[in-house]
Amino acid sequence: MKSLMSWVKQARLLVAVSLPECQFCLKKAAPSPELPGVCRSCYQSIPWIRTPRCQTCGRPVGCPDCSRSHSPVPIRCNRSAVSYTSTMREILGQYKYRGNERLTPILGLMLDRAYAMLQQEQRERHRSLTRSHQGRSTPFSLFKRKQRLSAQWQADLLVPVPVSAARLAERGFNQAEQLAGALTRRRGVPQLPLLVRTHHTAKQSFKSRSERLADMKHAFTGNTDSAVLQTLRSHVDASSLQPGQRPLQIVLIDDIYTTGSTIRACAEALQQLCGSQGYTAEIYALTWARS
Ligand SMILES: [Zn+2]
Ligand SMILES: [Zn+2]
Repeated sequence: MKSLMSWVKQARLLVAVSLPECQFCLKKAAPSPELPGVCRSCYQSIPWIRTPRCQTCGRPVGCPDCSRSHSPVPIRCNRSAVSYTSTMREILGQYKYRGNERLTPILGLMLDRAYAMLQQEQRERHRSLTRSHQGRSTPFSLFKRKQRLSAQWQADLLVPVPVSAARLAERGFNQAEQLAGALTRRRGVPQLPLLVRTHHTAKQSFKSRSERLADMKHAFTGNTDSAVLQTLRSHVDASSLQPGQRPLQIVLIDDIYTTGSTIRACAEALQQLCGSQGYTAEIYALTWARS
């Protein structure tokens, strides 16, 4: 009997040892099927944003920022995967400051959920636009074509929010670029560094909203590198996007959306760059967390 008990104990130990380590709680536990690399119990406690209450910035709660601001928002909307709770802050810290790059595919997969939400919403929006434009003057073939396009909405380009050279040297990687890379691998949407950071901004967390907005205003500019612009042109050509036919659908990628000052500044610089190249653009933002 004793030997049977010790055998059961040993078998249990063996199972525990062979289980993978959860990248969130670092315990050995059965992984969740939905998010490999994360255990079931950690997966259950992820604060997903399933229904954003603010249609502009994707906040899950009532939002004074978007209704208060009188200047037009330069993005169509932001969607975030999760609420920035203390647990999510801890995870992002592990990734960004302690350089646990094993989190990249996990956070990328989480961001992909926000992309799916954005895609679903845009497909519905384009469908209803097509319906409302369905006048008698629209030829049937054109209507059919518009209908097909609306059912297929996807981003044309992903643009990661750049970090300053100093930050890059300190961290060794740009988290936004890595997250965009994960989305590219899943969705096949290319990423292009259409923005550059013009100056290093001091730590934002201790600043008020208006201070952040002022600070960010000139922090980004369009990337006028000839190779990058050439890639943009050949991408537009390849997707048979005729000038003036429809706006480029560009999605800005970042890890976190706080006041929106970074995204706002990036979108403005991006609009300017696209305009200078003769393109119109509709800009969206996808961020891993919404604080
Ligand atoms: Zn866990
Ligand atoms: Zn809002």
